[in-house]
Order: sequence, then C-alpha cells, then structure tokens
Amino acid sequence: MPELDPNLLAAFDEVVRRNPGEREFHQAVREVLESLGPVVAKHSEYTDAEVIRRLCEPERQIIFRVPWTDDTGRVQLNRGFRVEFNSALGPYKGGLRFHPSVYLGIVKFLGFEQIFKNSLTGLPIGGGKGGSDFDPKGRSDAEVMRFCQSFMTELYRHIGENTDVPAGDIGVGGREIGYLFGQYKRITNRYESGTLTGKGLTWGGSQVRTEATGYGAVFFVDEMLKTSGDSFEGKRVVVSGSGNVAIYAIEKVHQLGGRVVACSDSDGYIVDEAGIDLDLLKEIKNGHRGRVSEYADRRGASAHHVAGGSVWDVPCDIALPCATQNELDAAAATALIGNGCRIVAEGANMPTTPDAIRLLRDASVAFAPGKAANAGGVATSALEMQQNASRDSWSFEHTEQRLSEIMSSIHDRCLSTADEYGAPGNYVVGANIAGFTQVADAMLSLGLI
Ligand code: NDP
Repeated sequence: MPELDPNLLAAFDEVVRRNPGEREFHQAVREVLESLGPVVAKHSEYTDAEVIRRLCEPERQIIFRVPWTDDTGRVQLNRGFRVEFNSALGPYKGGLRFHPSVYLGIVKFLGFEQIFKNSLTGLPIGGGKGGSDFDPKGRSDAEVMRFCQSFMTELYRHIGENTDVPAGDIGVGGREIGYLFGQYKRITNRYESGTLTGKGLTWGGSQVRTEATGYGAVFFVDEMLKTSGDSFEGKRVVVSGSGNVAIYAIEKVHQLGGRVVACSDSDGYIVDEAGIDLDLLKEIKNGHRGRVSEYADRRGASAHHVAGGSVWDVPCDIALPCATQNELDAAAATALIGNGCRIVAEGANMPTTPDAIRLLRDASVAFAPGKAANAGGVATSALEMQQNASRDSWSFEHTEQRLSEIMSSIHDRCLSTADEYGAPGNYVVGANIAGFTQVADAMLSLGLI
C-alpha cells in the first residue's frame, strides 16, 4: 500500500478505529486519501481546520427496523439504513440499495464516494446513500410493495426535496421507486416530486434517467478514446453485470460502433461473438427478471454460457465493470492485461480492488474510477430535480445532450486537475482531488460544520 502523509494517516487510523469491521468504507476512504498528499502539502488550511477528519464522519446515520409480511402471512424483518454524509454543496443525494450483503459499512462506502462524485458533476447536490439487507430476488410484486411501504414509513421523516433525495441502486429500479414514492405521498399528503428520483416518465421522472449511468460511463470512455484520436469503432468490449447500468452501457457502446461480446450476472457469464443482442437481453432481464443463462439457451450458435468463472477472462479492448464492489481483482486485472485490454472504466461503484488498480496502472492501462465514470446517473437525477422544481419536462434529445456535456466536463476536469497536481493522465488522482477541493472549500466557507 502507498504511504500516507502523517495528517492523512492519522485521519485514516481514526476512521478504522471509529468504524470497526467496515472494510469497504475503510477501502473507499484510503483510496481518496492516497490522492490527497499533494493537496495537503499545498493547502495547510484543510488540515488546520480538520476538514478531512470531518469529511470522513457522516453528518447523520439512521438505522431502522423494517417489519413486513410475506405472501404466506409470515412476519419478516429487515434492517434499513440512510447515511446522510455531507450536505455542504446541497441536499444529500444518493441511491438506495436492496441486497442481502447491505450493512452499515457498504452504505458508508457508497455515501462517502457519493460526496466526491456529486461534487464532480458541478451540480448542487450533497452526498448520501441508503438501503436494506432485503433481498428482492424471488419475491412477488406484492411482497416488494409491502417491504417498500414499510421502509418508507420510517424513512419519510428524514427525507425531502431540500433535505435528502434518494434514488435507485442495486435491487432498486422503477418498480421500487414507484412503491416508495406512493407511500411517501400518502403519508405526507404532498406531491413532492423532487423527493425521489428515478421516477416513471408519466409521474415526474426524467427522460434518460434510466439510461444515464450506463450511457454516461460510455460517454466518459469516448472522451478517453478521443484524447488519443481514437473511437469506439470496431472495439471489443466486455461488460460485467446485466442490470440497469450494464444494459445501457451495452446499448451506448453499440450505438457508438463498438461490439459488446460478454456480460454476466452473479451465476456466471455469457459470450456472444456476434455481439450481445440487446432486445433479447432486455426481454429476459426487464421482462421477467430472468438469468443470463437463458440468453445463451435462446440465442443460438453464436452464444454460450459459462457457469461461475470470471467474465474478465474474455479478451477485450475495453472492460466496463458494471456489477458490484470488488468484482475485478488482481487475477482479473492480470487476465485483462494479458489479453491486451487498453481501458478499464468503472460503471459500478468501487468494482476494482486496490491491487488490481495498481496492476492496471503499472501496465499503462487507462483507468477511470466510478466516481467520475458513473456520475451520469446522479447528474441526470439532479436534472430530474431541476425539471420537478420548474414543473417542466425536457425531451430525450435535450436531456441526453446535457448528460453528454456533463460527462465531457467531468472528464476534462479530472485531466486538468491531474495535470495541476503533477499526475498527468491519472484519472483517479484528478477525480479525487477535483471532487475533494470543491467540497472542502464549501465546508471552510460554511464555518465549523
Ligand atoms: P442492478 O440491480 O440493476 O444490477 C446489478 C447487476 O450486478 C446484476 O446483473 C447482478 O446480478 C450483478 N451483481 C450484483 N451483485 C453481484 C455479485 N456479488 N457478483 C456478481 N454480479 C453481481 O444494479 P445497477 O445496475 O443499478 O447497479 C450496478 C452498479 O452500478 C452498482 O455498483 C451501483 O452502485 C452502481 N451505480 C448504479 C447507478 C444507477 O443509476 N443505478 C448509479 C451509479 C452507480 P444478479 O442479478 O445475479 O444479482
């Protein structure tokens, strides 16, 4: 592990001591602090005012009981979380994740990342994240609805369009946002559209929000390619996952002339040398929440399914991890490098382990961290809030154009900041420093908060 400046090391040690066992949170903090050495060397005001230590401590952490009944009438119990991490730039903003692996350490890592990501968008949004250890897999619509209603029965008192604005994440899509918004509206008797984003298009949602994270990640890679006069034309691409981010990343790669030859779910991966047939994949995933193995069964000779294994063994020019944290480890990075991969860009949050990032860097593989590359989702959520506040609704073309401009500006800001701090071409350093300085300056201006 790279050494940390003594002030940063003290801040990191404090995080580990205060948050025992929360290893994903430790990892996310460490990754940011490793970039901040040149910043604290140049700006003693950040350490004098303990901005870094304050940034690592959430403003508020809410944990609550979520009781609900399943279809057989049995009482079920889950735990709900909302970590309101930092509101220096605007209301807390970040998704809700429903997955059995969710615990406080995951929510804090995601909330911490969200602070810098939201800052990078240049839009007025703070950072937060939430979720539950509820597993929607195999649950009926009625069970998911009862769970969402119970979850919101507690959460509603903590959120609002000027306070905290949740959205989706793993396991939370349009269906769940609908049930959550319906319960919020019922309890508060207010049609406060700006309290949740990712809403349906007929009731306050924004065009392009569903596509935004995947599209945005691909726009970001397109900018990376342009820096060396290149494009997606003819590139082989591998995407992990087959959920919201993965599906729309695949769609945009195909629109820009690349070919996605593999994608995955938690049971295995599919390879389709003819290029993933997105209509079929969407029908399976969005239509009846099926598995990717079904794709291989239905597609015919060009495709096959590999149970288990690593999707990163499939040779590609560009790899887009779009599933979950720490899914691309050192072995996967070694396989990608060996197969000639030139770019890795994170559609998911922290999918690449620190060891893997070092290997990619040493092999001169261009690497885009999630807080920059997947910021298109939250940026479009902020555009949804903007439309809700003005009771307006923009066209698909206009919204996609705004998304593309935001991704291009994040890309350029990462590169120019990396240059300024002596790390040319290093998107990790650029994203961490650019995201940090804006929030830190706001915190200094707002007094001791
Ligand atoms: P979805 O629930 O729509 O899809 C998640 C996908 O990842 C599924 O294919 C799922 O497979 C797979 N997956 C989940 N856990 C694992 C695991 N342990 N091993 C292998 N595969 C796994 O979620 P999203 O697409 O919304 O989110 C994906 C990532 O993108 C997350 O890291 C999220 O935080 C990040 N992100 C999402 C944003 C959004 O707007 N939705 C915004 C920014 C980041 P299976 O069905 O088998 O579980």
